[in-house]
Amino acid sequence: KVLCAAAIVAGLLAFFWKDPFNPESLSGARVLLTGASAGIGEQMAYHYARFGAEIVLTARREAVLQKVRTSLYEGRHKRFGLLPKKQQQQQIRGLDYLVLNHIGMTRFQMWAGDVEYTRWLMQVNFFSYVALATAALPTLEKNKGSLVVVSSLTGKIPTPFTTSYSATKFALDGFFSSLRHELIMQKRNISITLCILGLIDTDSALENTRGKVHLTASPAPEAALAIIWGGATRVQEVFYPWWLQYTCCLWVLFPHDRDQVLQSYYNYSSP
Ligand code: NDP
Repeated sequence: KVLCAAAIVAGLLAFFWKDPFNPESLSGARVLLTGASAGIGEQMAYHYARFGAEIVLTARREAVLQKVRTSLYEGRHKRFGLLPKKQQQQQIRGLDYLVLNHIGMTRFQMWAGDVEYTRWLMQVNFFSYVALATAALPTLEKNKGSLVVVSSLTGKIPTPFTTSYSATKFALDGFFSSLRHELIMQKRNISITLCILGLIDTDSALENTRGKVHLTASPAPEAALAIIWGGATRVQEVFYPWWLQYTCCLWVLFPHDRDQVLQSYYNYSSP
């Protein structure tokens, strides 16, 4: 109980005393943002543009990305570019923020034994993050830049129906939290921010979870802003919604009752 109270007090202090976010610091900042054609990535694109950042957006579907471009133009946000996926690595030059956000198609279902799918998802959700971050590190270092990695609560706490997805998100935490130690030990000035998100009301997430969870989705524009704040203030981890930080503390502190409570948020009727 004492530990739990201490964790809650520490969390509240951290929440209320968090670094002030100065949107002007993003004016002219060079941002490469992946998975920008939809969902949280699209919302991040609008925020970054509004703050005056120079953004390069990536996604596979060019036509959908064009719609984001049109919205940015209509919002008079002219300083951005679009980059076909294949050119990403060659074009990473002069970068202040690399925001890794894309994910491959996610199945929200019981494990059915598809090992190939897990391998593929690992490629899209994990190895591509490692490759892009590695390519960007030299230029980020030159500019004292920030690496922002979008993860999930299911990358901290394993949840049902997310076997492969959860594995990719745990892998991100392992790799990038280890890399953060190394950068600090080497005194290399690149921040790494891992973003832990709960259920967010993007079309894909709502479609995947419909009828399967008893959880309320939080708004994508707010989630996007929390990620941008985290990168700009160079914090190690962002939790959105903020109370997820306590969920993670409670998860560690109450190992005996936690599984039953967690499973009660998920719908499953055996066939
Ligand atoms: P969306 O499904 O809405 O968007 C995913 C983006 O990734 C799209 O721009 C899509 O564009 C791109 N993408 C899809 N497949 C691939 C691929 N194979 N290779 C490269 N890019 C691809 O995702 P969300 O906005 O919901 O999620 C964004 C981030 O937030 C993810 O990292 C996710 O794990 C995290 N998150 C989301 C939660 C939620 O409830 N929404 C909860 C917790 C974390 P295109 O198809 O054009 O390539």
